[in-house]
Amino acid sequence: MNVLIVHAHPEPRSFASALKDTAAAELRSLGHDVRVTDLYAIGFEPRLARADFLETADPDYFKPQREQLHASECGTFAPDVQAQLDDLAWSQLVIFTFPLWWFSLPAILKGWVDRVFVMGRVYGGGKVHETGGMRGRRAMLCLTTGGPGESYSSRGRNGALDALLSHVQWGMLHFAGFEVLAPFVVWGPARAGSEDLAATLTVWRERLRAIEKEAPVTVGPLGG
Ligand SMILES: Cc1cc2nc3c(=O)[nH]c(=O)nc-3n(C[C@H](O)[C@H](O)[C@H](O)COP(=O)(O)OP(=O)(O)OC[C@H]3O[C@@H](n4cnc5c(N)ncnc54)[C@H](O)[C@@H]3O)c2cc1C
Repeated sequence: MNVLIVHAHPEPRSFASALKDTAAAELRSLGHDVRVTDLYAIGFEPRLARADFLETADPDYFKPQREQLHASECGTFAPDVQAQLDDLAWSQLVIFTFPLWWFSLPAILKGWVDRVFVMGRVYGGGKVHETGGMRGRRAMLCLTTGGPGESYSSRGRNGALDALLSHVQWGMLHFAGFEVLAPFVVWGPARAGSEDLAATLTVWRERLRAIEKEAPVTVGPLGG
């Protein structure tokens, strides 16, 4: 299986980075091909702009989706966007590893979605959700939080995590055509002891061993 890991954490020794490293090592040991895009490490530019395109469809007015469509038709994406599109096309499973920031993705990862989930390749022309460009592929979120799990239950102060993540799991992943696997969530690693964190990495490895056959979950606009 071809697995793409897209990682967003500025600290290589963070627990989110340990989840990324563990996934890459475990999946490779199982014989899978793994590519890792470490967004901070490569200095990924998160701003969608004219520089994403080698030529413009309309030099007078910058309409991003029109330019994405044009670049999809003409193969004129800037090399950094094209490289990410090539990785997506190669992948069968995409794992996103990141800390929950403001109930959402770190900006660098949201910027990756803005620039790489392009109209014309990933969605568009009526091809969204089940017919999206990423159909036949699976995706999953692997994230850490600051708050404890109780605060992300349906009765918790922060609200149910599945509902909070629906703009990502439904509005980005499923919209693009991915089947979505249940997220792997590590609640408050900064407050956990080293034994608990080591045990969490063991649970993560165990899940990865069976991930090739794992069934997707139901996602929707208000969560699962
Ligand atoms: C801008 C911003 C917005 C935020 N918004 C939210 C929010 O909306 N909701 C929320 O809940 N939280 C929020 N937070 C908190 C954030 O989600 C957590 O701080 C983060 O998820 C913790 O994960 P980490 O990887 O950064 O942990 P770290 O603090 O980097 O690591 C935790 C511990 O794991 C240890 N560790 C690392 N690797 C290993 C290993 N291999 N084995 C054992 N131990 C290891 C580290 O040494 C450290 O002690 C926000 C934080 C920021 C900066």
